[in-house]
Amino acid sequence: MTAMLEKPTADIEADVADVLPAPIRQAITKVVGGKPVTMTPEMADAFGAELDALRERVVADLGERDATYIRRVIKAQRALEVGGRAMLFAGVLPPAWIAGTAMLAVSKILDNMEIGHNIMHGQYDWMGDPALAGRNFEWDSACPSDQWRHSHNYMHHTYTNIVDMDRDIGYGILRMSEDQRWTPYYYGNPVYAFLLMVLFQYGVALHELETERIRSGEISIADKRETLIGIWRKVRRQTLKDYVAFPLLAGPFAPWVFTGNLTANLIRNIWSYAIIFCGHFPDGTQEFTKEETANETRGMWYFRQILGSANLTGGKLFHVMSGNLSFQIEHHLFPDIPAFRHAEISQEVQEICERYGIPYNKGPLPQQFATVVRKICKLALPWN
Ligand SMILES: [Zn+2]
Repeated sequence: MTAMLEKPTADIEADVADVLPAPIRQAITKVVGGKPVTMTPEMADAFGAELDALRERVVADLGERDATYIRRVIKAQRALEVGGRAMLFAGVLPPAWIAGTAMLAVSKILDNMEIGHNIMHGQYDWMGDPALAGRNFEWDSACPSDQWRHSHNYMHHTYTNIVDMDRDIGYGILRMSEDQRWTPYYYGNPVYAFLLMVLFQYGVALHELETERIRSGEISIADKRETLIGIWRKVRRQTLKDYVAFPLLAGPFAPWVFTGNLTANLIRNIWSYAIIFCGHFPDGTQEFTKEETANETRGMWYFRQILGSANLTGGKLFHVMSGNLSFQIEHHLFPDIPAFRHAEISQEVQEICERYGIPYNKGPLPQQFATVVRKICKLALPWN
């Protein structure tokens, strides 16, 4: 046995503590809607403990209800996909084309949001079902799921709204924060935003490529060879499925299947873009600096997740169709808890926030989206 292994645990822990910087014990103040919001280290500890306790309660309660829920959603999604694709074979009849396209669009939305995004977060890993395991799941999107698990689960959820760390702030294409330095390129902000919306699945697919670092010369395209191959394979597979194989199967009705698939993908792109942008960029959401968040405590991490996210209000169906990302605040607090639980705990989270004087940003989709569009246009200009 080596001397190292014989060392008492307490000594090793002390050594580790020497290497790791101590958690930052400083208050953070943010101005939200014109009012200062302060979180002191003491408040953050108590706040974090309350949220940890809430999380533990939900985790202890996970069981049959959650399993039934996700299996039911998957069943509905499959039925909608099969029904929609079958209906599109008769797409020469306008009502069949409309119904088929709508069913396929809903199926793709469910697949990407309530099923794919949530399963890939590992929300159902505790079930031990390989079909629902986060690391295996592949979704109906141009973005390869293994790349998404890194860019979204790790980068975005760990470094949420930290400028220069969270690449979801503008996806390397847009200026979404005043803290991003303006260049003349950003005159095109509204145009890039529109293109990203209609081509959203490809925008998400290109996420891991880090095009802004390639553009700036920091890395070369050769450094990203593996990533690029992965994207190319997935895009080719998706393109062959929706735009070649299914249209060919329809024989003379191929054009109706082709346009139906194209429209369903477009609807899914616009919808997921709207939900995701409303989750992080409406008025009032905050960005953070690397200095503010270096080695933050768990309570401060929760504080940042809340101030960097926003919720959407609406009915039950709306929440399911948004993959419960309408509860973006709760999703960011507890990304590995089944998403439909976020709806159930939102009242309690809100009540905890109120007690600590932390604003809880929520509003209906049209209102939140309008503020996002305004921000995109405003930040195109150099004086903003
Ligand atoms: Zn997420």
